[in-house]
Amino acid sequence: MRDQPLRRPISVAEHRARVAALVERTPVVRLPLTDCLGLVLAEDLVSPISLPPFDNSAMDGYAVRAADLAGADQDNPVELPVAEDIPAGRTDLVPLEAGTAHRIMTGAPLPPGADAVIQVELTDGGTERVRLFRAVAQNSNVRRAASDVAAGDRVLVAGTALGAAQLGLAAAIGRTELPVRRRPRVLVLSTGSELVEPGQPLLPGQIYESNGTMLAAAVRAAGGEAELLRFVPDEVAAFHAALEPRLAHVDLVLTSGGVSAGAYEVVKDALADRGVTFTKVAVQPGGPQGAGRYQGVPVITLPGNPVSSLVSFELFVRPALLAALGHERVDRPRVRATLSQGITSPAGRTQYRRGVYDPASGRVVTPVGGPGSHLLSAMALANCLIEVPEEVTELAEGDEVAVLVLAD
Ligand code: AMP
Ligand code: MG
Repeated sequence: MRDQPLRRPISVAEHRARVAALVERTPVVRLPLTDCLGLVLAEDLVSPISLPPFDNSAMDGYAVRAADLAGADQDNPVELPVAEDIPAGRTDLVPLEAGTAHRIMTGAPLPPGADAVIQVELTDGGTERVRLFRAVAQNSNVRRAASDVAAGDRVLVAGTALGAAQLGLAAAIGRTELPVRRRPRVLVLSTGSELVEPGQPLLPGQIYESNGTMLAAAVRAAGGEAELLRFVPDEVAAFHAALEPRLAHVDLVLTSGGVSAGAYEVVKDALADRGVTFTKVAVQPGGPQGAGRYQGVPVITLPGNPVSSLVSFELFVRPALLAALGHERVDRPRVRATLSQGITSPAGRTQYRRGVYDPASGRVVTPVGGPGSHLLSAMALANCLIEVPEEVTELAEGDEVAVLVLAD
């Protein structure tokens, strides 16, 4: 098994399908609305109440009978006694008598007998008596009960991604919790005896550990929960000792490093023949990959080079995490763009180059940095991945490419 990976590489699509098959949907739980941002509604949401729940005023002004204002204009105002004051939140409703007005605020309940509201700007603003300088049509400035939602309406369907508007609507119909699939718990485990905690001094040959921070952020951005284990040395016994006690608590283990063709490949040494298959994927960066189950828990092993790690997270892991949450759309937006400069790509591998895509500039994409998988600063400048198909080895300025948009 140890040497099996060096057979024909598998395609990006094949590895993606393997990873997708590994990660199951998480169970449905009820979570407070404040914890639901970015999650997916697991059942249809039906409103027990109407919105608005009662007829109310759309303006600060005066509740009136439209007929009482017939013929009013700037030169011939109608003057009415102000019988009541109705701020928002007043719950006792006094009927409006003909020939009177109630001062009323936005969102306050329309009194029975009133059929219109005239905004304060068209009056003298009086509190005892009010002069009204305009006639109004019936229903003017009135928000009718159920004009937004009728009691019993299905306001959101299962599968809806929950953003600000959806959570606002859930609160507006009186919900405190929603049924969602819980966030997948991901153990992010970084291997490498050269890795040092940021903030500590570096000896020659050491580097700061960065994949853990990066992958944990990527997991969270995809809706998962990340547990970080950052300094696992390149020793099989230490790897097992770090991993084993945590297996029971997580839905997925995501490792970085220790999977390529050299010696001291700790992840490969520890997990090959134990349920995880190590493969070469026809992709650059991120060729060496592994996926499988270890003691029943899904494991995805990413390569250690930071750009390889993040690009393979994008291609393989992010879609699987989104699917686990119940998202229907798991792919980044894919657009066609024109290259601002030529690039080369290895034969037989799909290349994902980091780029800056600017839709405002006529859909032009500019590669940033070279193909090297250690070029993290270029990745940090990029907002997209430029996809160069397996068979293409050269592209010229002005050529059209597919672009995966990562951020605005
Ligand atoms: P590996 O896949 O373990 O052979 O690592 C490939 C390259 O990525 C090496 O240069 C490592 O030092 C680097 N690398 C591996 N893991 C990390 C990490 N967690 N943070 C930063 N660099 C890493
Ligand atoms: Mg390593």
